[in-house]
Amino acid sequence: MPFRQEPPRLGNQYETDRALRSYLRRALPQEMLEEIEPELLELGELAGGELYRMQLADRLNEPRLTQWDAWGERVDRIEVSPLWRTAERMAAERGLVATAYERRHGAHSRLHQFALAYLFTPSTDIYSCPLAMTDGAARVLLTSGNGPLIKNVLPRLTSRDPEEFWTSGQWMTELSGGSDVGASETFARLDGEGVWRLYGRKWFTSAAASQVALTLARPEGNQGGGRGLALFLVETRDAEGRPRGIRIDRLKEKLGTRKVPTAELTLEGTPAVLVKGTADGVRDIAPMLNVTRLWNAVSAAALMRRGVALARDYARRRTAFGSALAEKPLHADTLAGLQAEAEAALHLAFHAAELTGREEAGELDEEGARLLRLLTPLVKLTTARAAVHVAGEVVEAFGGAGYVEDTGLPVLLRDAQVLSIWEGTTNVLSLDALRTALKDEAALSSLKAEIERRAAAAQDERLLPAAHAARGAAAHACAWLAAAGREGQTALEAGARRFSMTLGRALALALLTSHAQWSLDEESDPRAAAAARRFAHSAVDLISDHDPEDVAALLADL
Ligand SMILES: Cc1cc2nc3c(=O)[nH]c(=O)nc-3n(C[C@H](O)[C@H](O)[C@H](O)COP(=O)(O)OP(=O)(O)OC[C@H]3O[C@@H](n4cnc5c(N)ncnc54)[C@H](O)[C@@H]3O)c2cc1C
Repeated sequence: MPFRQEPPRLGNQYETDRALRSYLRRALPQEMLEEIEPELLELGELAGGELYRMQLADRLNEPRLTQWDAWGERVDRIEVSPLWRTAERMAAERGLVATAYERRHGAHSRLHQFALAYLFTPSTDIYSCPLAMTDGAARVLLTSGNGPLIKNVLPRLTSRDPEEFWTSGQWMTELSGGSDVGASETFARLDGEGVWRLYGRKWFTSAAASQVALTLARPEGNQGGGRGLALFLVETRDAEGRPRGIRIDRLKEKLGTRKVPTAELTLEGTPAVLVKGTADGVRDIAPMLNVTRLWNAVSAAALMRRGVALARDYARRRTAFGSALAEKPLHADTLAGLQAEAEAALHLAFHAAELTGREEAGELDEEGARLLRLLTPLVKLTTARAAVHVAGEVVEAFGGAGYVEDTGLPVLLRDAQVLSIWEGTTNVLSLDALRTALKDEAALSSLKAEIERRAAAAQDERLLPAAHAARGAAAHACAWLAAAGREGQTALEAGARRFSMTLGRALALALLTSHAQWSLDEESDPRAAAAARRFAHSAVDLISDHDPEDVAALLADL
């Protein structure tokens, strides 16, 4: 018999996810979990079966932009791939956004929603992108106090009816800057009929096929910088489906996220509605970014889980040197490290989701809200970086097959790479976290206390070294902050990424250890403890001092 290689298979992606199920058993009231579990099982079955097969079959389809019709009329129509059309319908029907706003389970509604998103995301080729922005836009509108938008647009964004459901884009990045949005050049002018009209270019607009978008523009006469920008809502198309004062110049040719129609737009007098005031738009859009960053973290955890599930299954099917890869001590050791990373990301992302749900339900006090403000960038940047690392290892775990497109594996790596770029790069978010930690000592103290509390929950002696490592890393980061603060701004900025990653990973480790204790006590399951121990031996404490002269020497030419 000639050798035949079996492809990797996925089972029910909820049923087989020990880490997710264990987390939900701890975090949710039992009756709630019993109520939502059939939904999770159904989506898990689709994600590992029919949707996964559709995803593989859809591999070569990409969004298409048609700029002109046959008769010379500018139409700028975008058609997305069949998988995305299915995803849009499913997302509405299954309440991927709605669940968070119906609040059937109060503060736990966000966990419900993100459990669905975690299962849905890896089989729908980054359809999480428009969903994240739609969720973010809904949050902005809800808190805006803008009656007409709350009445007319919010119900669309949170609808379960696919015919009613609208998605929203988020148009911030311009040629002059994605990180530095204060440099935006788009301006807004009131026309003779009292309608705001926008003029400018938006350089990266994903979800360009969305029905609405939130965007920033500077009302004429306003000051420069972020304070002078205002937040606007744009309805992208008229009743006939034609763009309203928007020219779609082209779709980006990207490394990954190739199903996402990311467009360059020119706004040519686009009619727009002010969401709040005529300034401070960067502040007004911040709630959207908090939500999209949370989606980013959940997506990172979900993509890691998908990659590890495939690699673990393949290791049982692929033989080399006379036995299955799963039986090779070094291959097993490599996969175990990836599993621990994926579990850490799961706990980190869902911890932020838990706090967000409590904040929205009015259950978070002032201290909790400030902690969440510091956590959001930390959780986003830590999980995104881990996802890129894990995706690279997953591809390698398949050997040559991992590098071949029609296995559907390379896309995991390409898609993971975006997670550390959009919604704030690792450096930009590290600086954001640094600023918060410096400005708000109480937020940093709360984070330290949270790490301490979680670590202290671990009583089993096999968990004590991990708990100790979490505390030690957090203390080291705080000591570094104090010392670098004495040295000045350059030292602070240069070390911001190591500071933020250390805090993010220390919290992940503390969450893993406390969950592991619970799982030992309540489930008699030693696997979460194994994840905590393994993660404790990965790079958690990244604090180190580097001589600025070395930095200059390394970057000097010749
Ligand atoms: C696939 C894709 C889809 C996107 N979709 C959207 C969208 O829908 N809407 C939208 O508004 N934007 C979107 N973006 C844009 C994205 O948010 C920006 O690219 C991102 O915020 C970075 O901005 P930039 O490209 O201007 O990079 P820059 O700001 O020029 O950054 C370049 C590098 O410099 C670093 N850097 C910048 N400032 C500092 C600093 N002060 N200190 C240290 N390092 C620094 C960054 O970390 C980065 O590594 C998308 C991007 C991609 C790749």
